[in-house]
Amino acid sequence: MTARILDGKAISQQIQQELALEVVRLREQTGVTPKLVAVLTGDDPASQVYVRNKERACQRVGMQGVVHRLPAETSQAELLALVGKLNADAAVHGILVQLPLPRGLDATPILDGIDPAKDVDCFHPQNVGLLAQGRPRFLPCTPHGVQQILFRSGLPTAGKRVVIVGRSDIVGKPLALLLAARTSPFGPEYANATVTLAHSRTPELAEVTRGAEIVVAAAGQPELVTGEMLTPGATVIDVGVNRVGDKLVGDVEFASASRVAGAITPVPGGVGPLTIAMLLGNTLTAARLAAGL
Ligand code: NDP
Repeated sequence: MTARILDGKAISQQIQQELALEVVRLREQTGVTPKLVAVLTGDDPASQVYVRNKERACQRVGMQGVVHRLPAETSQAELLALVGKLNADAAVHGILVQLPLPRGLDATPILDGIDPAKDVDCFHPQNVGLLAQGRPRFLPCTPHGVQQILFRSGLPTAGKRVVIVGRSDIVGKPLALLLAARTSPFGPEYANATVTLAHSRTPELAEVTRGAEIVVAAAGQPELVTGEMLTPGATVIDVGVNRVGDKLVGDVEFASASRVAGAITPVPGGVGPLTIAMLLGNTLTAARLAAGL
């Protein structure tokens, strides 16, 4: 079997076209242009690329994207003060503090200091709580991106056994909440999965993944999931992004997995492009909520 390749780049472009129309509609209705502010502290090269991509993506869909660049020596108090200033600025709808922060800075109080109504990454405890209770304000970007790929590829999750490898607060855990929920933005067919959350202490991982119709790999371990660990015809979503030498590889061994799977996302060009599109979607939501819509 050769798996169908799920083209995240094309799906992301489609979503961004839809968002661009929504941005025009909001501006016509209210005069408001959604504005996302990213705060980049220090000079981590990967973070610089991520932030630049987010800024460009904002421009592509007609939103304002602004980056505050701060030196690595910035103090906790200075960073908190900037977040406070952005919270108070009514023209700013979304605030994103790019992680990781330089050594010496504690991310938790900074992220907790973002106004939950502007927390477009959906990291604030209030937004995580609302998500857990099935009444989300924002959807977490990468997990929502995974759900978008499944929806736009016609791969429903209801009644399916889903194994997520990785239980982080950013990917695995919130994705489990989304897929095990009673419904989704795409209706109940794209929720209602029977979800298993695997992690580094899961024994016999291959047996666990072989029991799944959908496997999501989000472990940060290059090529951890191989074809032997899959049931024939499974859908495989690879969230991992790992730099190995000068190559980017996922958490799935693509060559062996794509011979067994029914459908699979590539790396790059799979989940990554969706994460940015979902961030833009949350910024639009924040602007709408701020306008009382
Ligand atoms: P974390 O490092 O925060 O979490 C990794 C998780 O995987 C942990 O729960 C860990 O278990 C588990 N894990 C690690 N090794 C194994 C193993 N050998 N077997 C089973 N489980 C294991 O990573 P993130 O969730 O932040 O990111 C995961 C990957 O996704 C990374 O490659 C990251 O770069 C990528 N990513 C991609 C995004 C995108 O837009 N495409 C966005 C965000 C992340 P334990 O809890 O026991 O330690």
